Amino acid sequence: MKKISVLGSTGSIGTQTLEVVRENPDLKVIALSAGKNVKLLEAQAREFGPELVSLQDEEAAKELAVRLADTDIRVLSGMDGLLEAATLQEADTVVTAVVGMIGIRPTIAAIQAGKDIALANKETLVTAGHLIMPLAKDKRVRILPVDSEHSAIFQCLRGEEGNRISKILLTASGGPFRGRTREELGRVGLEDALKHPNWAMGHKITIDSSTMVNKGLEVMEARWLFGVGVDDVQVVIQPQSIIHSMVQFEDGAVMAQLGVPDMKLPIQYALLHTKRRPMEGEKLDFWSLKSLDFEAPDFENFPGLFLAYEAGRAGGTMPTVFNAANEWAVAAFLRKEISYLAITDIIGETMAHHKKKEAPGLEEILQTEAETYRYIKDRW
Ligand code: NDP
Repeated sequence: MKKISVLGSTGSIGTQTLEVVRENPDLKVIALSAGKNVKLLEAQAREFGPELVSLQDEEAAKELAVRLADTDIRVLSGMDGLLEAATLQEADTVVTAVVGMIGIRPTIAAIQAGKDIALANKETLVTAGHLIMPLAKDKRVRILPVDSEHSAIFQCLRGEEGNRISKILLTASGGPFRGRTREELGRVGLEDALKHPNWAMGHKITIDSSTMVNKGLEVMEARWLFGVGVDDVQVVIQPQSIIHSMVQFEDGAVMAQLGVPDMKLPIQYALLHTKRRPMEGEKLDFWSLKSLDFEAPDFENFPGLFLAYEAGRAGGTMPTVFNAANEWAVAAFLRKEISYLAITDIIGETMAHHKKKEAPGLEEILQTEAETYRYIKDRW
């Protein structure tokens, strides 16, 4: 029996993780955490019977405690609750599916406690990859990617130990606005940006996919996960989202992982620690698959990707500034307070203003996040 904690259980990845648990009786949920969704967390707690549940929001946690008073499930709140969910003694694997930099502390705490990590929360690796990867190595903890692209690369690399990677080919659908000019993008509204052509995801990552910032975050995530340089990761537009990513080796051979777009496959692969098992759902049928198309990304009209490469090359605190500026801007766009194009304008301007610090520790990263928010708030 493998025991898992799910951080962010009420979100898109969290609920799909629980679907995978339902189909695999040898997986047992022992902790669940979310932001403030009392109703769904109560339902999940009653179905999966974890030892503890935690909500970030104090008031919501009080309400949940009342609702779960007839059970012996412990109800916690805030960062303390999140940290306890991440480090419960019995947990083998922690699924990090919270959204944003809030995931850094629990991820580090879970690694320190020796838990394997099924990593969805890419913001953590983008901002603190230089701390997390050595720590995981030191603690002999496995970081199992949940992001479909990184899971694909991970799958392509199995059995290739010792062979040199020449390039990671990170695929991208191009999002709902592929092919649009900057002028056309200026007319984009929130409802348009929330429609992704191939994937159903949480709001933040859906907006990130439309701006290509998500792909930029993934470039930095790949760099840490697979120990390559930022410029060894090449983004390839593959509009059908059938090829989830590829690896080119030094002899020119390219390995790819293909499948219908369904996050449950990478989630199950991570939870079962690379074991494969039958899965419900549609399978790829090459007789009906008409074509697979490829394009180069449009760095000019989608500066988010260009800026991500710049942040990744600069390193130090710059990826934190890139990420924090994006988190702030996307939240403001979701509240309809700024325009669509302002998202990448804010990232670019904030990065241009930032004086980079090398090799930041956790406190410096969190301080840089706070300073980035302050800077943007004063200007926009
Ligand atoms: P969602 O917005 O759907 O879910 C986020 C989860 O985090 C919810 O459970 C939410 O709780 C919880 N949460 C939000 N804020 C806080 C907080 N301050 N403290 C604690 N918990 C919080 O996001 P996704 O599932 O789409 O994405 C999660 C992560 O996975 C992101 O980093 C994303 O980039 C990554 N990812 C997502 C993919 C996808 O297909 N969705 C694919 C690959 C990676 P509540 O519901 O109560 O607000």
